[in-house]
Amino acid sequence: MDFSWTNDQNMLYNTILHSLQKDSGDKEPQHNSFWTRSQWERCGELGLLGLCVPEQYQGRGLGALDTSHAVEAFGRGCTDMGLVFSAAAHLFAATMPIAEYGNEKTKEKFLPGLCSGKLIGANAITEKESGSDVFALKTAAVKDGQSYILMGTKSFVSNGPVADLFVVYALTNPAHGYLGITAFVIEKGTPGLHVGEPLQKIGLTSTPASQLTLDQCRVPLSNRLGQEGQGSQIFKQSMQWERACLFASYLGQMERQLEVSVNYAKTRRQFGKPIGKNQAIAHRLANMKLRLESARLLLYRACWRFDHNEDAMQDISLAKLAISEAAIQGGLDAIRIHGSAGIDVEAGIEVMLRDALPSIIFSGTTEMQQNIIANSLGL
Ligand SMILES: Cc1cc2nc3c(=O)[nH]c(=O)nc-3n(C[C@H](O)[C@H](O)[C@H](O)COP(=O)(O)OP(=O)(O)OC[C@H]3O[C@@H](n4cnc5c(N)ncnc54)[C@H](O)[C@@H]3O)c2cc1C
Repeated sequence: MDFSWTNDQNMLYNTILHSLQKDSGDKEPQHNSFWTRSQWERCGELGLLGLCVPEQYQGRGLGALDTSHAVEAFGRGCTDMGLVFSAAAHLFAATMPIAEYGNEKTKEKFLPGLCSGKLIGANAITEKESGSDVFALKTAAVKDGQSYILMGTKSFVSNGPVADLFVVYALTNPAHGYLGITAFVIEKGTPGLHVGEPLQKIGLTSTPASQLTLDQCRVPLSNRLGQEGQGSQIFKQSMQWERACLFASYLGQMERQLEVSVNYAKTRRQFGKPIGKNQAIAHRLANMKLRLESARLLLYRACWRFDHNEDAMQDISLAKLAISEAAIQGGLDAIRIHGSAGIDVEAGIEVMLRDALPSIIFSGTTEMQQNIIANSLGL
């Protein structure tokens, strides 16, 4: 494995980073409001919404490692992590299942719009009683001629209030459990599809999220992804993409945590010297750097294995766990180093911790990653 960056990778990273830094320099920071359609379309223009989608459908056709470099630049250049999360969830958990398992008609119909920013995608699997135990879902799909009728409620759908289409998982054969789940694409406006009110969250506040209710919702057979019973496999594959590449955005965020904290440690003076001249502060910064670089290497190795069709399950869980926990620790460290400025909302430091907090829950909690790692050790 060689993780030195090629010219193409450097160019991809720098182009995205500098474009986003320029964009955010042009805008006033927003608090507690959702991102806008024009910001979404800008993500499309920069190629961020279709990084790993095949070029024939207007994606960039990148592998997981290149995609993670681009997503890392996204998380570093864009301080609105809610927008970054929305775009990444759209790409890895809604667009990729269509790209990898959709029939030709479905791919041609949806992928170009999902890549360009014309469409917004969401994925809906979690239910009130099936969170970590995700395949214990109750939403049912019953075949009726050339369509399926879906009934059930999904409890936490990122992008839900603004999505144009949903990748929804439902039971087509309850007796088969895990192998009885099927995935469907459902378009906004389909009769029987009801989107709930936006949920209030501690972090990633600009990502709109809601419940989704399916009440006798009729979906054409052509909108089924893969075969009947293939839903669990489709979801697991989308989680491999998400756990690997979405979390690269938190590497970018950690880079920002470190940059602002080093800068503050050099410029903030107490007792007649910069606070960074105290070993307690300097060592805290050294540990932030250690966690960032260790997590980054874990992620690169995971993406490399994924790209080479090796079994990457353990590596991806190690990377997801390390990055999310490190992002929270880094967020806390940044607040400690900034003192009261770290608590002042206007200074933009505390938001990095709030945006990091959900990362230990979504895409499978820390404990679920530990379970996967333990299983892979034969426990
Ligand atoms: C910001 C955010 C965005 C999300 N977006 C989406 C989305 O777009 N679509 C979607 O479908 N879902 C989404 N989710 C839901 C997410 O996937 C679930 O929250 C997650 O899977 C955990 O489920 P839960 O919240 O029900 O927690 P629970 O499963 O109830 O877990 C509660 C606690 O118990 C622990 N636990 C549970 N089982 C075990 C076990 N076997 N061993 C050890 N510990 C265990 C967990 O680790 C956790 O600490 C999102 C969640 C968040 C926070």
